[in-house]
Amino acid sequence: MTSQTATPAAGDAALVLAALRGNISRIDNHLLELLAERSRVAADIGLAKRLSDRPLHDAGREREHARLLGEAGSRLGLPGHVVRRLYLLLAGHAFDAQLPLPEPVADAATPPDSDAFRLARLEPGRPRTVVRVGEAALGAGTFEVIGGPCAVESARQVQAAADHARACGVRIMRGGAFKPRTSPYEFQGLGLPGLALLAEAAHSRGMAVVTEVLDPAHAADVAAQADMLQIGARNMQNVPLLRACARTGRPVMLKRGAGATLREWLCAAEYLLLEGNPDVVLCERGIRTWERETRNTLDLSAVVAMRRMTHLPVMVDPSHAAGRNELILPLCRGAHAVGADGVIVEMHPCPAEALCDRRQALSPAELRAIATELHLKEVMP
Ligand code: PEP
Ligand code: MN
Repeated sequence: MTSQTATPAAGDAALVLAALRGNISRIDNHLLELLAERSRVAADIGLAKRLSDRPLHDAGREREHARLLGEAGSRLGLPGHVVRRLYLLLAGHAFDAQLPLPEPVADAATPPDSDAFRLARLEPGRPRTVVRVGEAALGAGTFEVIGGPCAVESARQVQAAADHARACGVRIMRGGAFKPRTSPYEFQGLGLPGLALLAEAAHSRGMAVVTEVLDPAHAADVAAQADMLQIGARNMQNVPLLRACARTGRPVMLKRGAGATLREWLCAAEYLLLEGNPDVVLCERGIRTWERETRNTLDLSAVVAMRRMTHLPVMVDPSHAAGRNELILPLCRGAHAVGADGVIVEMHPCPAEALCDRRQALSPAELRAIATELHLKEVMP
């Protein structure tokens, strides 16, 4: 029961509160007007960059600007890390606004016999899907470099990896907490505690997280900490897992099964879309052939074919395809050349010590070389 008669003191306090709320609303509205003005200027900057043929995104400049604003905010008594985060969020949106809008593909034709994947297929008039993950927009026309260790091994390892990844401009960090290993005697991952380490390391540095889900029962817990869920090659047709991951509402990256045809892969994606989750990203990671010099055979023709079959973004994982770190940079170049929306690669702060997939782990310097050459380069239409 609430009392009908307020004391005079309570009445005064209510008046003061109402006045203060009025003040804060005025300030918030003023901030909104400033943000709208900022977004108009950002759009003009995008136009000026296009006219002068300059790259749209300069991660180094953006980070330096965030650092300076954080310092200026601290001098005004604001928490510097909050100011930095706010700025990076705004800058990310401004950058997205500068990207060309995904246009319906002019010469799109509905793939024949494609009813089984009718939501995933490309159709005349249907725009390509853009999947936003943290600061990144997969499928929006730039080449994203996702990087991080095969597995989360310790707080120290994952923090060092996050430092290196962020320094390379990585915006989505990978890392396995639940590892699907071929042998049950090998390191199986640290599970949810490992994911907490990864999420802390990545989020505190402004990066989003992608990690694999192995068990439908874990989907919600993983989704609580990760920004994108990965369904691994071994589970591409695990229907309960597909459904559980899609229902979390998080973007899902669906790897191609080592023996899957493109149609089977698209039908698996259809299960995700049918759950009402539009944020589906495909990832080609090599298929099993008779060749033993590489771990798998990277099927770059799949990327080209998929761009004609589906509106979904297509990433490439050259690490699990090649299985050897010296092949990865050239394969990233190949992925860009055939129109992939980006790559996901494995990097370890000290590759010789990696507990998992050591032979394919890039050093931080090797990741830097890939990011310098390819990160956020425009993708061919
Ligand atoms: C991975 O990305 O950690 C992984 C195990 O990949 P894949 O499912 O492609 O083998
Ligand atoms: Mn791996």
